[in-house]
Amino acid sequence: MTDCLFCKIVSGDVDADVVMRTPGTVAFKDINPAAPVHVLVVPRRHIENAAFVEPEHAPEVAELLTSARAVAEMEGIASEERGYRLVFNVGPDALNSVPHLHLHVIGGRKMTWPPG
Ligand code: AMP
Ligand code: ZN
Repeated sequence: MTDCLFCKIVSGDVDADVVMRTPGTVAFKDINPAAPVHVLVVPRRHIENAAFVEPEHAPEVAELLTSARAVAEMEGIASEERGYRLVFNVGPDALNSVPHLHLHVIGGRKMTWPPG
């Protein structure tokens, strides 16, 4: 997708604070962090959002999760005593603002539930 912000971050056309790259994913710091740790993990391939995921995307979706775990380990929040939240936003009610699938990895503080 030529006009997609996260595709441009994946290609390097737009700068981001990239913390990890894997064959199928790129992870970078959220520009407006909601917590001390807030990283977005995106598939290199453009997928609109979680509602567009099909069985053929299974390897990439699994890689989003393994990359998220690796990011959490790297950021020091993966221990049994700590932990983190993984979020996919879908659509306006969830405030989904960028139409390229991304997994939020949020942590470094105690979360509240339910989310606002
Ligand atoms: P969502 O609301 O789930 O669509 O999440 C989009 C996220 O992308 C928000 O948390 C934004 O702060 C973040 N974001 C938007 N533009 C950038 C950017 N250029 N670099 C890093 N994060 C961004
Ligand atoms: Zn895209």
